Amino acid sequence: MSATQSFQGIGASPGVAVGRAFVLDNRRVRTPKVKLQETEVEAEGLRFKTSVELSSRQLEDLKEKLKRDADADPGNTQDHSLILDAHKLMLQDPMFIVEVNRLIREEAINAEWAVRRVARRIKHQFDNLEDEYFRERRADVDFVADRVVRNLLGHAMDEEVELPQDSVVVAHDVSPADAAMLVRAGKVAAFVTDMGGQTSHTAIVARAREVPAVVGAGKISESIRTGDLVAVDGNQGLVLVNPSDSQLALFRETMRRHLASEQSALKTAELRAVSLDGHQIHLNGNMEFPEEIPSLLAHGAEGIGLYRTEFLFLNRAEAPTEEEHYKAYREVLEAMGGRPVTIRTLDLGGDKVPGKKPDKEANPAMGLRAIRYCLHHREMFRVQLRAMLRASQHGNLRVMFPLISGPSELREARSELEHCRSELGRAGVPVGRRFPVGIMVETPSAAMIADRLAQEADFFSIGTNDLIQYSLAIDRQNRDVAYLYRPLHLAVLRSLQNIVRAAKNAGIPVAMCGEMAGDPTYTLVLLALGFEELSMTAGQIAAVKGIVRRTSRTEAQALLERAMEFSTAEEIERFVRTEMEKRFSGSE
Ligand code: PEP
Ligand code: MG
Repeated sequence: MSATQSFQGIGASPGVAVGRAFVLDNRRVRTPKVKLQETEVEAEGLRFKTSVELSSRQLEDLKEKLKRDADADPGNTQDHSLILDAHKLMLQDPMFIVEVNRLIREEAINAEWAVRRVARRIKHQFDNLEDEYFRERRADVDFVADRVVRNLLGHAMDEEVELPQDSVVVAHDVSPADAAMLVRAGKVAAFVTDMGGQTSHTAIVARAREVPAVVGAGKISESIRTGDLVAVDGNQGLVLVNPSDSQLALFRETMRRHLASEQSALKTAELRAVSLDGHQIHLNGNMEFPEEIPSLLAHGAEGIGLYRTEFLFLNRAEAPTEEEHYKAYREVLEAMGGRPVTIRTLDLGGDKVPGKKPDKEANPAMGLRAIRYCLHHREMFRVQLRAMLRASQHGNLRVMFPLISGPSELREARSELEHCRSELGRAGVPVGRRFPVGIMVETPSAAMIADRLAQEADFFSIGTNDLIQYSLAIDRQNRDVAYLYRPLHLAVLRSLQNIVRAAKNAGIPVAMCGEMAGDPTYTLVLLALGFEELSMTAGQIAAVKGIVRRTSRTEAQALLERAMEFSTAEEIERFVRTEMEKRFSGSE
């Protein structure tokens, strides 16, 4: 038996799986480099043109195929067409077409070589972006270039690979088209890739389809052969190749527990999160892509508590049009069928700037981001607001503004919204009824003057990821200070108390949608504080609900009171964890 090898990557989609490897041969094809005779140049241009047309047609066929699948399965609202459309657009981009033709003509080189050179140049433009999400888009340039080169070389594309059941798909990288095609047959047990990060397409498709995935695992695809036994832990980012019997037993046990908790999660989907003394917390879902909705609904999400709309900028250099915004919002509102959908306006800025190289800011987290960015880029903001107003006819919409630091920004943003409403009204464009307009409370200043903001906002949703970052002065991206990131720091707890009190006094709803909301360790604390709504990912709903249903609010309040007598974050956390273990360990 072969020796065991272990690889550490990034856990990009939770879950555990054991299966036989299926190594996708998607290494970059070797690019022949040929100097042309002058007489060959024109024909080479034609070869390139044909290959681009063929590539475009293939993407269209693929879209059709995926659409037919979706139509045949009404529960499936997977829509990967935006990604494929973006690839098609890249094929029409003059920066790509004109440049390749220029190289063929002026340097007399073959089309394959020219395509690779232009792709490299385009990718360089993404290199300097600090944001991982936007850097990931370099991979898309490669996927498109690969397709064109393969077509030039006459290699087959988009073949239906016949996967054996429970295959662990191992690849250097998986294109969105391949990922979508592979999972649709339901035979993929897990994905493992050399490349990619949390926001790579494999990760997104895998999460949406609840297939465990480990990405960014180095050169793993070179070390695994098709047929090897592979154990994948998508929570820890761990991959074992040819595991020993004892390792395998451990993995199978984790897998069994994961499946059992997943099954019981689905069983509790219909139950409400009501404490023993009758305090109800509405559990909503956080989402980035419409693909996530079926899974959120299956896990019992009562609504959408946070739709991060900046993800609409996926894969593209240009900002989406009003129509594209509208289509996305309408789709989400309709899919949620009357349940509340909280759309957050764009949280762009800092280094997440679409279409152009961002101005370097010394301190982007404190710079021109979120609502500040939108108020500086009014037309872009209005495009989104108009789309929301139009979409509001199709469901139960709530809108919130991110990173509000004081009433002036809220007033300014609200007045933009009203401006757009009257503009549409004058133009005779139908819009829905008025909807609640709230704010994300995620700056210390907003927390301090929550009483004033509560007079002007229709609801609060606390973004703890940022509130903790700014309150404790720790960059949430910086690993070196990650140990200071403590949701149970007394300053955070007092802040939360203040915000909830202000909301209650003003009679407006208060929710939380940061990561803290979905971590069951904190559920009793949040129940004690009096939250009416928590928003989280699909996989977190059942555990949080289980805790709410098994305790009383009075008991939770007693626990919080004792916790807040301690001074250090470590003491509070130790106390809360111990109390939680006493109550809930061992019971699923
Ligand atoms: C937050 O800050 O807690 C939040 C939910 O927003 P984001 O993580 O998108 O900044
Ligand atoms: Mg935030």
